[in-house]
Amino acid sequence: MKIAIIGGSIAGLSTALRLQNSGHEVSVWERRNPTSSGGFGMLLDQKTLTRLSSLGLRLDPQLQKVTKYEAHDIHSGRVVRRGLNGSFAIQRSTLIDHLKNEIKHHSLNYDFEFTHFEPNSGNNVQRACFSNGHKIDADLFLGADGVRSSVRNLQVPGPDLTPVKTVEVVGMADMNSLPAKSRNTFKKYIHQGKGIAFGIVPCAGDKVIWYFQIDNNKWPQSLGSNHQRNQWLSEELSHWPHQVRRIAMSSRLENTHLWRTTDRDLPLQFHRGNTLLIGDAAHPLLTFTSQGVGSSIEDAVILGDLLDEYESSPHQNLDDCLGEFSAIRKPILEGHLKNGRDLQQRFLGQRPHCIDTYPVSA
Ligand SMILES: Cc1cc2nc3c(=O)[nH]c(=O)nc-3n(C[C@H](O)[C@H](O)[C@H](O)COP(=O)(O)OP(=O)(O)OC[C@H]3O[C@@H](n4cnc5c(N)ncnc54)[C@H](O)[C@@H]3O)c2cc1C
Repeated sequence: MKIAIIGGSIAGLSTALRLQNSGHEVSVWERRNPTSSGGFGMLLDQKTLTRLSSLGLRLDPQLQKVTKYEAHDIHSGRVVRRGLNGSFAIQRSTLIDHLKNEIKHHSLNYDFEFTHFEPNSGNNVQRACFSNGHKIDADLFLGADGVRSSVRNLQVPGPDLTPVKTVEVVGMADMNSLPAKSRNTFKKYIHQGKGIAFGIVPCAGDKVIWYFQIDNNKWPQSLGSNHQRNQWLSEELSHWPHQVRRIAMSSRLENTHLWRTTDRDLPLQFHRGNTLLIGDAAHPLLTFTSQGVGSSIEDAVILGDLLDEYESSPHQNLDDCLGEFSAIRKPILEGHLKNGRDLQQRFLGQRPHCIDTYPVSA
């Protein structure tokens, strides 16, 4: 089958690889340029790693084992410690590069910004059109264009994104800013009731990812200009433990990234006609669950298996096959959505909260 994928990040690339492995004629259309993978890093669980190796990726040397979780309550000094089973951290650029290396070079197209489909009425579309005038015909179109997906807006609009209640300021520091004994520990420092927490995730490539998780209603400065935010963070850091200050101040605050975290209820179906949404375009999740990356990779594997079945059974139609994708994925994603919202409410102080309830996730 000829399949065009709009968006070349984790969901788009892992799906391209899975479908290429089944012999489909796949193309990926990404609006960024090929050198700008961006981002910092992510925690992967054992299931996600197994799925990535089923796609043919060998990531072992690029992974940092994260074996412990430690939550510090800044106010009371209480510390909760737990063992972590099968968690690994990887730099985002490393994962993206590995995926790209496995996909046929000519399938990857950069600097192509999707604008619309033709025809623009009816369920099925024939071609995707890009801002540079290029058009591509395909049998199946996959919208892997992220949280604010244009494919979704055109083909499967609604429900709306929820208002942003928490933001994350994410940065990356060198591993030597972390004491040797902490290099396998995911730490979280929590200011109960203050609407602010600090996370540290040791990552492969001698890097540490750190992030402030912030209630943006309590801390509107977090949404100010870069300059205002950095001034506020520098001042705020002076009230935090030495370890936190050392990591955040060892990297330049100007190089941090602000995430406005949001989610949305699931649509009835992830597809309309021959267009299917995958990854964050289909089901953005709050960062509390740390399931965004794993869910995108799970989409890739499940869709690949369903399309294999569809191709081998002459009586099945594409609509049923894509409908089956929603039927399998929605109950799992409902669980992640609910979990993320529950954890967010606890963080915002809208539900009883104690440090033991924090998720073992970034
Ligand atoms: C630059 C960047 C950095 C990130 N860094 C991290 C991180 O450090 N840690 C973490 O846990 N998660 C990170 N994420 C989020 C994480 O990748 C996703 O939550 C999750 O993996 C789902 O991925 P996705 O492919 O569905 O969506 P995304 O990763 O959001 O990818 C969507 C892709 O579609 C492209 N796109 C959007 N609109 C168009 C268009 N009109 N035409 C063509 N292409 C389009 C975007 O450029 C992007 O590459 C990052 C995402 C991005 C885009």
